[in-house]
Amino acid sequence: MELVLRSTRVVTPEGTRAASVAVSGGTIVSVDAYDTPVPDGVRVEDLGDDVLLPGLVDTHVHVNDPGRTEWEGFWTATRAAAAGGITTLVDMPLNSLPPTTTVDNLRTKQDVARGKAHIDVGFWGGALPDNVADLKPLHDAGVYGFKCFLSPSGVDEFPELDQDQLAASMAEITGFGGLLIVHAEDPHELEAAPHTSGPKYADYLRTRPRISEDTAIEGLIAVAKRIGARIHVLHLSSSDALPLIAAAKREGVKVTVETCPHYLTLTAEEVPDGASEFKCCPPIREAGNQDLLWEALADGTIDCVVTDHSPSTAELKTDDFATAWGGISGLQLSLPAVWTEARKRGYGLEDVVRWMSTRTAQLVGLDRKGAIEAGRDADFAVLAPDETFTVDPAELHHRNRVTAYAGKTLSGVVKSTWLRGERILHGGEFTEPAGRLLERNN
Ligand SMILES: [Zn+2]
Repeated sequence: MELVLRSTRVVTPEGTRAASVAVSGGTIVSVDAYDTPVPDGVRVEDLGDDVLLPGLVDTHVHVNDPGRTEWEGFWTATRAAAAGGITTLVDMPLNSLPPTTTVDNLRTKQDVARGKAHIDVGFWGGALPDNVADLKPLHDAGVYGFKCFLSPSGVDEFPELDQDQLAASMAEITGFGGLLIVHAEDPHELEAAPHTSGPKYADYLRTRPRISEDTAIEGLIAVAKRIGARIHVLHLSSSDALPLIAAAKREGVKVTVETCPHYLTLTAEEVPDGASEFKCCPPIREAGNQDLLWEALADGTIDCVVTDHSPSTAELKTDDFATAWGGISGLQLSLPAVWTEARKRGYGLEDVVRWMSTRTAQLVGLDRKGAIEAGRDADFAVLAPDETFTVDPAELHHRNRVTAYAGKTLSGVVKSTWLRGERILHGGEFTEPAGRLLERNN
């Protein structure tokens, strides 16, 4: 071994305890008693009472690089992620140009990310109406699964699937054992909803009602059940969909579900007029809806929490909710935001780790990530859970310092972040990029 990290509070799969974590060659080799003697010449990092967590795994990030790098890029996104205790992200296939919908496009994205990644980066592929023949080659090239939309995505180069195309893509992906991840809002329900514009959040909320999610998810589950597919529902906001998801899980449908920090920590009631930094699709809903999302996380109906970090330039965040870009930047703040609310509701850091690291790693099959135990990568976040800070946009590493969390006081300060046994962030300073480009089964 070459390194031992010692803390009175190490979050392990068996619970939180005082421990010494031994690292060799970037891998955790053992988790021992706190006072286990360390051989001469081995570096010891004593973290005191700061908590040692497994690095978070964020499987829903829009890096937008290349093509829309004025929105975000691999350099800035991975620095922001590291500052937030995230050590692995999986990049969404859209909002970059090209989108990740062919093997050539995947290689283009990997070439751009190489040398800029401060943390490990994997890629999702995209399922479009006309690229069924590209799905298997993309799977073989190492993407972790395929994203599709059922309603317009917001960018022309990434069209949605109709029901026939959904079934065709799902059957193809199921044929090679892949995973389909779905932005589930029903286009007909969105069409039937009021079409408002202007600065009032309540008006915007009516344009994307809960039933648009509920209907889409109900249909999606029916198709998945018929085909025997493995599906994942992205960014669930509507609590009304929870009973049908719970029922599908009971029936053995292979469905998993994520939600996001903004649905768990922000409410429709608090959004000021014109504050489109709060706009995302599906939208942030009412406080009562949020309570039910927390209950669903606790009982396992919702599996995990991811950022859906989807930034844009400040100019696209106009004060008209109808035309402003929909997307919330959350990479750097997701851990403190979720932890602040989780502790208020009586949950522990073990729960946060399960939702934001262990289960997300499982979702994409990253069996070297997501827990502090022997044989896994020595990826860590060191957190002072009781220290607080007030969110100052100037301190964000996102390319555009636009945030729905400005001025909020949050608990949980990330003291350092470690990737394969190297401290990549400490005292606000980053090392040179040491992230790897991950491919499925590598
Ligand atoms: Zn997204």
